[in-house]
Amino acid sequence: MKFGTRAIHAGQEPDPTTGAIMTPIYQTSTYVQESPGKHKGYAYARGKNPTRVALEKCIASLENAKYGLCFSSGQGAEDTILKLLRPGDEVIATDDIYGGSYRMFTKVFAHFGIKFHFVNMHDANDIRKHVNENTRMLWVETPTNPLMKIIDIKVCSEIAKLHNLILVVDNTFASPYLQNPLDLGASIVMHSATKYLGGHSDVVMGAACTNDDKLYEELAFITNSCGPVPGPMDSFLVIRGLKTLHVRMQAHCKNGKEIAHFLKNHPRIDKVYWPGFEDHPNHKIAKEQMRDFGGMLSFIMKGNSMEDAFKVAAATKVFALAESLGGVESLIGHPASMTHASIPKEEREIRCVRFTDSFECRN
Ligand SMILES: *Cc1c(COP(=O)(O)O)cnc(C)c1O
Repeated sequence: MKFGTRAIHAGQEPDPTTGAIMTPIYQTSTYVQESPGKHKGYAYARGKNPTRVALEKCIASLENAKYGLCFSSGQGAEDTILKLLRPGDEVIATDDIYGGSYRMFTKVFAHFGIKFHFVNMHDANDIRKHVNENTRMLWVETPTNPLMKIIDIKVCSEIAKLHNLILVVDNTFASPYLQNPLDLGASIVMHSATKYLGGHSDVVMGAACTNDDKLYEELAFITNSCGPVPGPMDSFLVIRGLKTLHVRMQAHCKNGKEIAHFLKNHPRIDKVYWPGFEDHPNHKIAKEQMRDFGGMLSFIMKGNSMEDAFKVAAATKVFALAESLGGVESLIGHPASMTHASIPKEEREIRCVRFTDSFECRN
């Protein structure tokens, strides 16, 4: 079945009691049992809720996955995935990741004895250099936030297979419409469903999908044990949002492309980070592993002054100054003081220079 058809129908049947075409919001905490332990597969709503199950099946279908799980937020999904690890384990993560992921890795999980290495991942040797006997997980975000780097998922999966690592891909920026990491060899794909999947800036949610029976069992066990599950109303909203994912993504890609070109030709703009440009250092990989270039881009103004950036961010008329992405409204943000404020300034600058240098050597 085509992507759009799956986005609208996967996991959903007309309600057996009424024929309602939309999945009902099963606003219930528990389910009546016939005799102790004898029930229709639903015992308590932390474990399972039919509205959530319909959504999980739909997202799994869009990611070409056997299993899907939904969470109370993208961070809830990440928290659950990281709990697959044990003290002493090491994770190699993309350096240019979402600020909240960086914060959770360094300020929460580091205290439980897990070690994180943040590497460029531009060149596979960057990753190989950091693999040792304690490495258990590769954490890849692509396109990255906010520099729009593209990491080669296939190459990462070769390294992961060779060293028996769990390869996690944060697919929030691409959405399953543009990229399916499991098809490229990832073990787990995760989303902040708050963004493109929900698509209407009205819900906070996370998702994770896998084809691996054992990983699914472990993730489902941790989810039920720790409890970061979304409610049925929010699940309904994302089911509704998904029905237009393919149409919205086409519009996002078209608009993103126009804005990228407008900014590139603007006399006061220095650099535009958008993987659709042929001179973007990862353009070739972007073309191979994505179906289009998405609706996200970042830019640096000439002079690179914070005052100018603040002025532009506050002066746009249609774009609202806000954190987040993927809704139908257009948003603008200043990552260093908003979404990525928890990454130390020196680290942010090193990352930016490291990546921007690779631009320069190509041009
Ligand atoms: C927003 C975001 C997250 C976190 O998701 P929440 O739903 O806000 O918890 C994780 N990764 C990326 C790339 C994001 O943009």
